[in-house]
Amino acid sequence: MKRLKILLIFVFSLSAISYGQYKQAPLPYNYSALEPTIDSATMYIHFNFHHASYLKNLNKALEKYPELYKKDIVELLKNLNELPADIQTTVRNNGGGYYNHSLYWSVMAPEGSTKISPKVEKLLIKNFGSVDAFKTEFEKTAMTRFGSGWAWLIKEPSGKLTIYSTANQDNCFNPDSKIKGTPILTLDVWEHAYYLHYQNKRADYVKSFWNIVNWNKVEELLEK
Ligand code: MN
Repeated sequence: MKRLKILLIFVFSLSAISYGQYKQAPLPYNYSALEPTIDSATMYIHFNFHHASYLKNLNKALEKYPELYKKDIVELLKNLNELPADIQTTVRNNGGGYYNHSLYWSVMAPEGSTKISPKVEKLLIKNFGSVDAFKTEFEKTAMTRFGSGWAWLIKEPSGKLTIYSTANQDNCFNPDSKIKGTPILTLDVWEHAYYLHYQNKRADYVKSFWNIVNWNKVEELLEK
């Protein structure tokens, strides 16, 4: 009888685990790896408090609908309008925050560890005229996002590369997004992403971003 009880507890725990709540992947580098562009205190707080709380709120919202844990986060964001009405806003904000930050960590790397490949360079020239013109437009988009949000490089379904900006934790997967496609590069321009080190000087943060872009990841995403 005792064995049966233990077995039942074991099987029950396995089934609970198989629902697999969303998880935070470990950072691909340590907290100080992006210094001086991003200081380690900002990385630590951003990853362990901001990103972690979007994740926690997302998982909490889905507790009532555990079958949704099985969906890919992008599928949830693309199909927001089909989700139960009581969780649509929470999934938009917190599912968006969960996805956006995961991508943001992955498109950064220690300074000097990657460089633009000829292939990526060619695509940037084709779409924007030059790498510098691309950077200038991206910076301008990041600078002019009023309040909190994100700057993006998106590969549209046609293959065209477009620079885009979203408010809050929105992204191009939201059903009402004006631009659709695959995010290739993103920059968090919420004040929490830069305020400790740069205070009000968002422009300095945005310009420094180029020091730590993970161009290998950009190329990988472009080829998807
Ligand atoms: Mn953030």
